[in-house]
Amino acid sequence: MRVRHKPWAKEKIEQHPQYIVSNPEEYKGKWHEVFNNDQPLHIEVGTGKGQFITEMARTNPTINYIGIELYDSVIITALERLIEADLPNLRLLNVNAVDLPKYFAKNDVDQVYLNFSDPWPKYRHRKRRLTYKDFLKLYEDIMCDGGEIHFKTDNQGLFEHSLISFSEYGLLLKYISLDLHKSDYEGNIMTEYEEKFSEKGSRIYRCEVKYQN
Ligand code: SAM
Repeated sequence: MRVRHKPWAKEKIEQHPQYIVSNPEEYKGKWHEVFNNDQPLHIEVGTGKGQFITEMARTNPTINYIGIELYDSVIITALERLIEADLPNLRLLNVNAVDLPKYFAKNDVDQVYLNFSDPWPKYRHRKRRLTYKDFLKLYEDIMCDGGEIHFKTDNQGLFEHSLISFSEYGLLLKYISLDLHKSDYEGNIMTEYEEKFSEKGSRIYRCEVKYQN
């Protein structure tokens, strides 16, 4: 993904610690203090401009959400959305997913969303895919037993690699659609990439997998 540098993004992020948590390591094991309740916590890894996570939080007020995005110049749009929506059950983190266990303890997270993750098609880059086994271990280390990953993509190659990765890791396949928008799946909330690619006629793949611990 090409990322446009926005030199003012860092400053704007720092001005809104109530939305983009600036000290996430302090909440490891106690995210309920941030939300002031004991609702389940779902995270989206690679949240991009935040359309999906904002709409999920608006639709499901009894679930807490955290959108995680590496680039400040991208998360800034999610921040603008959140300022406007002012949802009590949504926060953002401007961090790299490889560091998730620095910010979350075992049992902090109930569900992980991966939407249109960067495909990294070359074999030598496979470890960067957010569905690579090392990432599956990171998610397991922060999730409740029996936690789920919900994954959507337009990229057939990434979907196939990911299904193999999930299966080799021992995850249970709960749901699969090879053409989400033509399936009977209800309540789909579209991401920015999903809108863009489906308008161009791309097929959307989706699956739900579950840890068997
Ligand atoms: N989920 C959004 C959507 O569906 O519209 C954005 C998809 S975009 C292709 C993938 C996003 O994942 C990018 O914004 C990228 O910066 C982010 N990302 C990739 N690797 C990441 C990592 N290790 N940690 C956090 N974010 C990451």
